[in-house]
Amino acid sequence: MKPSLLKLQKFFKLEAERGYDNHAVMGGLSRMLEPWEAEARQDGLPEELIAAVLSRLRDYNRLSPASRQEALQGLWSRIQSEVGAPPISDDKVPDAPKAAEPAEAEKTPAPEEMEQVTEQPVQEAAPEQPASSTEAQVHPETPEPAAKPESEPAQEQDPEPAKEPEIQKTSLEALNAPVTVLPGVGPKHGETLKKLGLETLEDMLYFFPRRYDDYSQLKTINRLEYGEQVTVIGTVQNASTRKVRNGKINITEGIISDGTGNLRATWFNQPWMTKKLRPGVQVVLSGKTEQYLGRISMNNPEVEQIEQQNLHTNRIVPVYPLTANITQRWLRRLMHRVITYWAPRLADPLPDDLRRDEELTELSNAILQVHFPDSKEKLQEARYRLAFEEILYLQLGMLEQKRTWRERSAQSFMVPQDWLDVRIDQLPFELTSAQQRALIEVRSDLASGHPMNRLLQGDVGSGKTVIAALAIAMVVREGSQSAIMAPTSILADQHFASMKNFLTGQHGVLKEHQVRLIIGATSDSDKQEIRDGLSSGDIKLVIGTHALIEDPVIFSDLQLTIIDEQHRFGVHQRAALRSKGKNPHLMVMTATPIPRSLALTVYGDLDLLIMDEMPPGRQVVETHLLLPREKERAYSLIHNQVAGGNQAFIIYPLVGDKESSDLLLEQEDSKAAIDEHQRLQKEVFTDLSLGLMHGRLKQDEKELVMEHFRSGEYQVLVSTSVVEVGVDIPNATVMLIESANRFGLAQLHQFRGRVGRGDAKAYCLLIPDSDDTAENERLSAMLKTNDGFALAEIDLNQRGPGDFLGTRQSGYTKQLQMASLTDLKLIEKAQHTAKKIHDQDPDLSLPEHAQLASTLAHFWGENEFEPQADVS
Ligand code: ADP
Ligand code: MG
Repeated sequence: MKPSLLKLQKFFKLEAERGYDNHAVMGGLSRMLEPWEAEARQDGLPEELIAAVLSRLRDYNRLSPASRQEALQGLWSRIQSEVGAPPISDDKVPDAPKAAEPAEAEKTPAPEEMEQVTEQPVQEAAPEQPASSTEAQVHPETPEPAAKPESEPAQEQDPEPAKEPEIQKTSLEALNAPVTVLPGVGPKHGETLKKLGLETLEDMLYFFPRRYDDYSQLKTINRLEYGEQVTVIGTVQNASTRKVRNGKINITEGIISDGTGNLRATWFNQPWMTKKLRPGVQVVLSGKTEQYLGRISMNNPEVEQIEQQNLHTNRIVPVYPLTANITQRWLRRLMHRVITYWAPRLADPLPDDLRRDEELTELSNAILQVHFPDSKEKLQEARYRLAFEEILYLQLGMLEQKRTWRERSAQSFMVPQDWLDVRIDQLPFELTSAQQRALIEVRSDLASGHPMNRLLQGDVGSGKTVIAALAIAMVVREGSQSAIMAPTSILADQHFASMKNFLTGQHGVLKEHQVRLIIGATSDSDKQEIRDGLSSGDIKLVIGTHALIEDPVIFSDLQLTIIDEQHRFGVHQRAALRSKGKNPHLMVMTATPIPRSLALTVYGDLDLLIMDEMPPGRQVVETHLLLPREKERAYSLIHNQVAGGNQAFIIYPLVGDKESSDLLLEQEDSKAAIDEHQRLQKEVFTDLSLGLMHGRLKQDEKELVMEHFRSGEYQVLVSTSVVEVGVDIPNATVMLIESANRFGLAQLHQFRGRVGRGDAKAYCLLIPDSDDTAENERLSAMLKTNDGFALAEIDLNQRGPGDFLGTRQSGYTKQLQMASLTDLKLIEKAQHTAKKIHDQDPDLSLPEHAQLASTLAHFWGENEFEPQADVS
C-alpha cells in the first residue's frame, strides 16, 4: 500500500480505537490534511479520491462521533474499492461494495429506452456508502432496513422482542457523490441533470417538485365527467397502433374496461404503448378526461401496470422542473429511487427535543413526503419542516456572523458634544427626533471600540443622508477616511453633491478637494488621481458605485464604509467594500420598509436602527386609483402639469412570467416600456419630448437619459422599474404607474417617493390592468396610507414574505426554496428557536448540536465569517 494510504489507515484505525474522539492526531484530524494532500499526490492517488478525502475530513471536528465513524468507514470503503486497499482492520469492516460503473451505453433518445435504463435498481448509489448497509443496497426498491453487521449480537440472543433493526444514518453533507454514480446516469445524463442544478445526490434530495398533480382520486369509468383530472383502474381490452399523415404520426388506441364501462385512451407517437397495453393486463390510467365523438376519452394519459408501485399514478404525483432531453417520467423514476433509498438514511441535524417542541417532522420523513406525498396533510407537514430549517440555518449563520464581528475591535471615534452641536446647527434644517435618536446610536457605535454594524432603515425621504454625513464628519475629523457606495451612478452623483454641501464650506470639516466621486464613467486619469489621493490619505471621502470595489483602490486609513440602498447590493459587495479597511465601521441604509421580524432574517447580521418619522412639512402625494378606461384622465393631468412647467414619470412593469427569477428581473423585459414610449410619443404626447429608460440600456445611456430628464429636456420619462431607487427629480410632480396591480405595495410606495420632493403638489396615479375589484381593493391601501411600513405589512399578509427574502442579501449558499412560500409565523418561530440555540450554545459545541454544526458549515460554505484582517 502507498505510504499516504498507510498513514490514513493508521489514523483511521486509531480513531476507531479511541471511539472517534478526534484525538488520533494532535490538534485534530484536520491538521494532517494539508501534509497528507501533498503526500497523496506524490503517491499518485487519483485526484478525485484525494478530493473526497479532503472534503470529507475538512469538518471532521464538527461531526458527532457517530458521523465521524460513518465518514471514516465510508471513505475507507471507497479507498478499498478504488485502489484495492485492504480493510481498515479485518475484524471490523466488512467488504465495501465496488464503486458503481457508469451505464455502458448511454443514449438519450426514446423515452422508452430511458425508462428501461432506470428500470435497474439504484445500486451502490454512493461510493461512500456506510459499509453496514450493503445489504439494503441490493434491494433499494423495497427499502428493507439494513441487516446488522455480522459483529453485532445475533437476533435470537436479544432478550427484547425482535426490534426493527436500525438503518444506519448518514449526514446530508456526506451525500456528495456525483449523480453519475447512479446506474443509468452516465456523463451525458450527468450534464443534462447539471442544467437543473443536480450534481450530487444531496442536490437531488433537495430538488423539490415544481408542483403536484393529485391523482389520488379514483373513479369508476361510468362516473367520469368531461374535463376532470382523474385516475381510473381497469383491464386492457385491446390496443393497436396505426400510422396517419403518411406515416408521420403514430396513434395508439387502447380500450380499458373496469366493469362499469369502457374508456378509450389515445397516445400520439408512443408506439411502444402497444407493448405495454397487452390485453388482459390491469393498468392505472391518470389524466384529464376529454370528449371524442360525444364519448369520454383520454389523450396521452399516464399509464402504469397495476402491480407496479404507483409512482406516476393513483397518488399525489410530483412534477419536477425539466430541461431538454429528459422526460418527467424518467426524472420522477430516478428521483423515486434516490429518495426512497436515501431519505430514510438521513440523519436529522435538528435535535430530538427541538423537533418535539416545534412539532417538526423528521428530516427523513420530510424529504420523503415532499417528493412523494402520501396525502396533502403529510405534504404540508414536510414543507413546514423544510421551511423551518431553512430559516433556522439562515438565522443561526447570521447570528454567528454578528457575534464574530462584535468580538473584533475597531478604532474608536469620540466627539465632544459642543463640536457636534456646531455641526448640527449648521444644517439647513432641524433634525427630526427620529434623526436625533439615530445620531445618538451611531455616535455611540463609533465610540464603542468595536466595528459598527448598522442597518439604518427609514422610509423614502426620511433623511438618512444627513445621518451618514454626520457619521462621516465624526470620522474624518480625526483624519481618517470614509467611503460611500451607491447602486447607480445617478445616486452616487446625487450623494456627491449633498456631501459637499453638508461637509465642506465655511465651517465644514473637509475641503472640497478632499471629497471625490468615482464611477464607471470617471476618466482614467481622474481615477489615477483619486487612487493616489486615497492611498496617500489626502482624499478623506470617496463616493462611488461598485467601481469603488472593482477598482484597485487602496485607502491609507478607511474607517467608515457606508452603503446606500443596500438592498440593491449583495453581501459580497458589502464584504468587498469593508475589506478595503481594517475592520472599518459599517453603516448600510435602505428605504425598503421591511417588517421588523423579516429584517431580523434578511439582515440578521446587522443591528437594526429605524427612523420612523418624516421631516415636517412634507406634503402628501395625492394618490388616485384609475380604471384602465380612465387613462385619458391621467394623460390630461400630465399635459396640465407639464404645461405648468413640471415633469412626469410613466412606469411600465416587467411583462411576462411573474415567477421569473431574480436574474430575469434584472435583465428586465423592457418591451412594454419601449412599445408604449413609441405609442405615447406618436399618439398622445405629440407635442412633448419623452425620454425612455429601461434595463437594456447601457450605464452611460441611462445616465444620459437621466441627465436630459433632470435638465428638463424631456418632460416625461417613460420607464421600467429601474427608476425605483433613490432618483431625485424635485421638479417631477406626476408618477403614473401602469399595470399597477403587478407591483407590491412596498414597491409602489417607492415609486411614489420619487415625486413630491419639491414644493409643488404632486400626484401618484395607479392604473391596474383590469377592473378586477379584489386586486384594486389591494391597491386602494395606497390611497389610505402613506406609511411605507404599514404598506409593507399589508404586502406581507397578502403576498407572503417571498418578495422580501432574497438570499443574495445574506450570503447563504443554499437557495431558500420553501421558506418563501410560507408564513411569517413560521419565520418568527424559527428565528426564536435560532436565538435560543445561539444563546445556549453559540459555538454549537454541545454533542446534540454536532450534526447541526456540520450542516450549518456545509450550507454556509465559505461565506461564513468573512475572512478579514484583524486589527490587533
Ligand atoms: P432618504 O432617507 O430617502 O435618503 P434624504 O436623506 O435624501 O432621504 O432626504 C430627503 C430630503 O429631505 C433631502 O432634501 C434632505 O435635505 C431633506 N431633509 C433631511 N432631513 C430633514 C429635516 N430634518 N428637515 C427637513 N428636511 C430634511
Ligand atoms: Mg437616500
